[in-house]
Amino acid sequence: MSASRAQLVLVPTPIGNLDDITLRARRVLEEVDAVIAEDTRVTGRLLQHLGIDKPLISFHINNEHRMVEQLVKRMEAGERFAMCSDAGTPAISDPGFLLVREAVRQGVSVECLPGPTAFVPALVVSGLPCERFVFEGFLPQKKGRRTRIESLRSEERTMVFYESPHRVARMLTELAAVLGADRQACVSRELSKLHEEVRRGTLSELAVHFEAHEPRGEFVVVVAGCG
Ligand code: SAM
Repeated sequence: MSASRAQLVLVPTPIGNLDDITLRARRVLEEVDAVIAEDTRVTGRLLQHLGIDKPLISFHINNEHRMVEQLVKRMEAGERFAMCSDAGTPAISDPGFLLVREAVRQGVSVECLPGPTAFVPALVVSGLPCERFVFEGFLPQKKGRRTRIESLRSEERTMVFYESPHRVARMLTELAAVLGADRQACVSRELSKLHEEVRRGTLSELAVHFEAHEPRGEFVVVVAGCG
């Protein structure tokens, strides 16, 4: 049996540990006609590691608007594609949404394989309630940043944010100023990698820590709701 019969298959890829590729992801990558990739070098290296040789199609924030239509037309004509972002699940703070939306609009079958993504392990390991949560992704970098944080003041669900290393200390300070210095939070760094670190505490404790220790790597910040 084929690993998927969909015309477009979103294939999550490891966020740090190559062993996290699933058996089904591997089979889909072997079976499709071509792989749509956020960065053809990154996905090319993964395919090489898996011993798979496939044509790669570049698809990123600078060309996705003009690529979407022609890719969906190719799928309508019978080609089958996998899509991979650099790490984790495509369309989660990564390219992919526009392609899925257009495929759905045109009646092309779409499937997303279950697999690696950073926010799920960060949420689960935080020890904060995960029955209900809100994924905020990246906060706006400049305009609208403060307004977005203010809008979360009375959010009762656990909140999950992505942040780059050079902004993480500032972000924790900003969150503490609006949501309260004593609000419980958890910062997960370098999940599934050699230097994985999970640090729990109040927003102000975590802000002090990351101001003192130059943060390196990739971060997910999980913050308790106000309930
Ligand atoms: N598509 C990805 C996913 O499914 O999680 C997210 C891509 S987004 C461009 C990259 C952000 O995800 C990083 O800035 C960081 O916030 C988070 N991230 C990715 N890998 C991570 C890791 N190994 N540890 C902690 N955070 C990670």
